[in-house]
Amino acid sequence: MLVTLRDIPADAEIASHQLLLRGGFVRRVTTGIYAYMPLMWKVLQKITSIIQEEMDAKGCLQTLLPQLQPSELWKETGRWQGYTAGEGIMFHLKDRQERELGLGPTHEEVITNIAGEILRSYKQLPVNLYQIQTKFRDEIRPRFGLMRSREFIMKDGYSFHTNEANLKSTYLDMDNAYKRIFMRCGLQTVAVDADSGAIGGAASQEFMVTAESGEDMILISTDKKYSANQEKAISEPIKAKPLAKGEPSLIETPKQTSIDSLCSIQGFDSSQIVKVLLLVAHLENGENQPLLISIRGDQELNEIKLINVFTQKTGKNIIAINSITNDQLSSQGLTQIPFGYIGPDLNDSFLNGAKTWNNKFLRFADLTAATLESFVCGANKEGKHLNFMTWKHLGGLPEKVDIRKAKAGDSCIHDTNQKLEERRGIEVGHIFQLGRKYSKALNATFTNQSGIEEPFWMGCYGIGVSRLAQAAVEQNHDESGIIWPITIAPFEVIVVVANNKESIQVELGEKIYSELIANGIDTLLDDRAERAGVKFKDADLIGIPWRIVVGRDADSGKVELVQRSDRTAELMNHASAIQKLSKEIQQAKDLSISQPL
Ligand code: ATP
Ligand code: MG
Repeated sequence: MLVTLRDIPADAEIASHQLLLRGGFVRRVTTGIYAYMPLMWKVLQKITSIIQEEMDAKGCLQTLLPQLQPSELWKETGRWQGYTAGEGIMFHLKDRQERELGLGPTHEEVITNIAGEILRSYKQLPVNLYQIQTKFRDEIRPRFGLMRSREFIMKDGYSFHTNEANLKSTYLDMDNAYKRIFMRCGLQTVAVDADSGAIGGAASQEFMVTAESGEDMILISTDKKYSANQEKAISEPIKAKPLAKGEPSLIETPKQTSIDSLCSIQGFDSSQIVKVLLLVAHLENGENQPLLISIRGDQELNEIKLINVFTQKTGKNIIAINSITNDQLSSQGLTQIPFGYIGPDLNDSFLNGAKTWNNKFLRFADLTAATLESFVCGANKEGKHLNFMTWKHLGGLPEKVDIRKAKAGDSCIHDTNQKLEERRGIEVGHIFQLGRKYSKALNATFTNQSGIEEPFWMGCYGIGVSRLAQAAVEQNHDESGIIWPITIAPFEVIVVVANNKESIQVELGEKIYSELIANGIDTLLDDRAERAGVKFKDADLIGIPWRIVVGRDADSGKVELVQRSDRTAELMNHASAIQKLSKEIQQAKDLSISQPL
């Protein structure tokens, strides 16, 4: 059932998505929902086997949890609202008894609840359970085929421990297993520090397949010792250009509302300016908190860091953050604020009488702004800035925090001689020390050695199985098609009978096919009544690592052995070809298993 397409599908933007559609691996059913066709299913099964082998080797146990989950469990952890209301990503429904259910986007609630019921004593711990299963997420922006879909296959694992040290040791085990899994799948990945969100404190690491089309920005030090998702990355910014000495003074800056225009007209460097951002945070408890953020003019705000800092400082959770606009000001019944000329000392009185907002700014200064001795900033008056300002003149420094985006060119914290470089990445896996958040919320406890009940320590570990398959294509293709790594290729060898009307070719093709199969090699026979050129094009497109062409030389028992990756071709006796393949394929598989990390 090999049905390939000639044309590039219109809605596929990136190479891997196009190639999987063209090669007949997947069919789009509707937005973000795909059918895995037979070739794709074979790839997914091979990835699954590698995952299972590596999980078994670490003593993990496979389970299968229900996809339909009762809302009650999600209400206990406080996640039902966030996952179903507004931009929530959980598909949810009501059954005939009007009971609410959600289609599993993830399984912490279900597994923790079960663990709490069956793991009663420290003697039963640690336990590490995993499953490989379809997940559902009503993503806001499904795209790039299997990369961000609404129904996808995930491996998710959850571990339960008596103490934090034991959790950490399993976390390291999983780190090791994940690196082996990705290596065995033929992927080049980078492990990066990742944001652990509102849970706070706990370590978390993502595994990124580096690719231009990746949705994540990652930063890697030149010596490769530090790597992090930009959401989480820390660095030393480049030094600010010191401002010449002078007394604080008001300067006329008509129509200079952007950092660029202010710099080009006044001759400032953007690192000499404190820019001020006005935002409003919408909180889980219904409050709307205006924020006034000061940051150096050449730096950008990292919203994830801001959200984490906010939660740490206030103990409140943010649902969304928006910039404050003139429209919002008027709907709050507030006077216009001189945008483009705001200074860090903008008075709280601007918020007096706001309809639904709190009437005091929460103020933060990023370290880049906080450490400037003298700077330029808005004067809170249309067309005016202040030169040679200091925090003292402004009446003091707001709370100083790290909320800037680290970026390429910054120096590294571990060694300031090292610089950060930017790369794009596709997140294929994520491991996480959860701590006791879920076990506490669901009252999942065990009896410790002193006979006291306490909540489990937990970790969770995910791999995007279907995303990984597509990421492999993104990393391994050329202009003619896919070049599957042999360990996850749908077939290891394709035998192409050039002319299916020549009985000698057909017979030799079938003989080679049977012998390869007998040698345990996963082989596909292409004896379709198509022109040889069509069959070669298809073979290139679907990317099977080795091709045996049975053509004109079949009379003398000779075939052409072609390697897909570099197209090297060799005319040889068919028996030697089979021998060579058996050896090469076995070696490639052994290597992927035994290679040191
Ligand atoms: P992302 O930031 O890409 O949305 P996530 O942090 O939501 O990912 P997890 O909840 O950690 O992802 O899920 C585990 C893995 O499942 C991810 O590392 C990723 O490989 C995969 N994954 C997540 N969402 C999707 C999706 N919509 N389509 C395909 N794979 C996905
Ligand atoms: Mg997500």
